[in-house]
Formats: sequence, structure tokens, C-alpha cells
Amino acid sequence: MNSNDIKQLDSQHVMQTYGRFDVAVDRGEGARLYSPEGAEYIDFTSGIGVNSVGYGNKPWADAIYAQALKLGHISNLYYTEPYAKLAKELTVRSGMSRVFFANAGGEANEGIIKLARKYSHDKYGDGRSTILTLFQSFHGRTVTTLAATGQEVFHKHFFPFTEGFRNIPANDIAAAELEIAKGDVCAVFVELIQGEGGVLPLNRDYVKRLRCLCDERDILLLADEVQTGIGRTGKFFAYQLYGVQPDAATFAKGIAGGLPMGGLLASEKTGSVFGAGDHATTFGGNPIAAAAALEVLRQLDGAALDRVAENGEYIRDTVRSWNLPAVRDVRGEGLMIGVSVAGNPKDFAKKCIEKGLLILTAGSDALRMLPPLTITREEIDAGLAVLKEVLSD
Ligand SMILES: *Cc1c(COP(=O)(O)O)cnc(C)c1O
Repeated sequence: MNSNDIKQLDSQHVMQTYGRFDVAVDRGEGARLYSPEGAEYIDFTSGIGVNSVGYGNKPWADAIYAQALKLGHISNLYYTEPYAKLAKELTVRSGMSRVFFANAGGEANEGIIKLARKYSHDKYGDGRSTILTLFQSFHGRTVTTLAATGQEVFHKHFFPFTEGFRNIPANDIAAAELEIAKGDVCAVFVELIQGEGGVLPLNRDYVKRLRCLCDERDILLLADEVQTGIGRTGKFFAYQLYGVQPDAATFAKGIAGGLPMGGLLASEKTGSVFGAGDHATTFGGNPIAAAAALEVLRQLDGAALDRVAENGEYIRDTVRSWNLPAVRDVRGEGLMIGVSVAGNPKDFAKKCIEKGLLILTAGSDALRMLPPLTITREEIDAGLAVLKEVLSD
């Protein structure tokens, strides 16, 4: 099928919920993508932070194939090896105690919200179920995670939303103190770098003080690492960059390198809050997704994460060195990078595509880069050449 055939079928048969870019993608190699007609693109998006080990990754594809032949799915009523091995690997690398496997970020966040409320209810009973989230946050598209999301644009159409969320401004510890003093709060739930909100890193000092504040009152500090987790920032989890251990954290996007998987990691304190029957999901920990995730983690060793940090710094330094009037600010950690631009970022993104670079936007002002974590310097330079041209126009 050519690109036009694909677009036509989509326009006739798919719910038109996405503002798509005008590109059909057929295959990829490393950090390069190709349309059905063979048009080539450098990819600074990795499917929104998902394809962490790039395209056409042979060991990843082999791991999936071998597991699919052996056992594709069996449910959580039985034990499987990839699942158990992945659980160990994740808990070791995160400094956590136990994992629950889900299938996506929104679902993982539903789980962490349930965990926080049950932790508090078990210990303190009713009236202590409010979760504080930050303005500009993004936590998912389910009715509850939309309620948790601190952006008014998401609080439309779908009433009634789940109760029990209040928003506070990021980096304002006094605001957190004030809300916590009301006595009904069980958890504070944050993205350490707000992704969809504009690639906005929280201040180091704020996060440390939030940790202390939560400890004083036995309130859980929860991290939404759906976008920041699994090596994206140059550490396995962004909280390791901050030197702060949350009581639980969610992950999803990059974990299985392109297959749907998410989950929830809990500390010693929260690891046994859920007992048999308290939480479940049919596909969670699916053996094929788990085998893919194990291969992703094998490839993302310490040296690979160091390269993520170095390449991120290289990109940020390079964009800053252009000194272009269109660039207002360059921010982020590792290969999660925001470039605040003068003008509509969507217009810049469209121009990049015309010249062969796929790039994301975030918030109202930023271009966002989430390239595959295995991207090479040659691929980075090819993408940056396009970006410079577009931003210089
Ligand atoms: C993408 C994202 C989600 C939602 O994940 P889905 O897999 O789309 O449900 C939640 N939180 C953050 C921080 C995200 O970036």
C-alpha cells in the first residue's frame, strides 16, 4: 500500500482522535524511518519515548520471536520465567522491593493511585485519600488519571471525574505544606520532569524537601516515571538523578522497546499493600512483552546510560551554541530534551518533517526530542542539521 491508500483507509475507518502529522511510516533502521515510498526521516521521537533501542534491533526482535514460539500468553494465574526475571532486574535497578506489571502508563498510574489510597486507608481509615498533583502535569487518559492531570484542558466532557485530587504549583514547597496541613492528603504524585507539560524539570531542592515533608506525615511520595523512566534521563529512573527515593513509581513507555507494557514499583514500605485480589490485569507481564523488556534492559547497561547522558548534553550544548533568536531556552536531562521556541512549536515540527526530521512538541512553547536511547552521533548530527535549518529560517 502507498501512503495515500493508508491515509484514506484511516480517514474512513478510524475514530479521528489524533492530530496526526502527514506521514506514513513503513519501516526503520537505527534512528532512521522510511515511508512506503522510501522517504527517509531521522527520528527524534521514538514513538513518544517508546522505541528505546531503535528500529530493526535484531536481538530485540529475536527475543520476541523466540518467546512467541515458546509461549505467547498464559495470564497471571501461572508463573513464567521472563516475568520473574524481569521483576528481579527491575527491583534491583530501581532500588525498589516489588513490581506489579500492567500494560500502559495510564493503567500503571491507576494502580499507583489505588496503592496510595489503600496504604493510607489500611493505616488511618477514612478521610485521608486526597492525592496532590502538580499543575502542568500529565498522568494519562483514563477518567481517574485525567482527574489527576493538572491541566484544565483535560477536565472537560467526561464528567463526573474521580474525586480526591488537588493541584499545587511545581517548585513551591509552601503550597505543598499548606495543602498537606489540611490533613486529608495520602500522597503527592509528581513527574520529576514534566513531559507533556513542556519538558519542565522539577528543582532538586524542591524534590528533596517534598521527600522530607512527606516523611514527617507518613504521606507517600509517588513518581510518575512513565516518560522519564528506563534510562531516558541517563539514569535508570529520574529519581536517581535527584537522589531521592520515592515510595512507589510507575513506568511504561520505554520498558519493552515498542511492545505495550507498564507497571508499578513499590518500596519495602508499600510493596505489600496489595494482597491477593486487590489489583489485577489480564495482559500484565505478558511473556512476549517481558522477554522484549529483558532484552531492552540487557542493552541499556551502565555504559549505554552514560552515553544517553553524554549525547543529551551534546544536543543541548549544540542547540545553545547556535545562538538563534528562535530559541528561547533549552532544557531537560539525558535524551529528554525541550527547546522552547519563539512561535508555534507545531509549525516548526511540520517544517522539520518536510526536511526529513520527526520531532515532537510539548506544552505550548516547546519542541521536544525523545530519540531512541541508542541513537548514534551521526544520526544526531543529521537530525540537528535539519533542526538548525528550520530554526534559522
Ligand atoms: C505517556 C504518559 C502517560 C500515559 O501513558 P499511556 O501509556 O499513554 O497510558 C502517563 N504519564 C506520563 C508522565 C506520560 O508521559
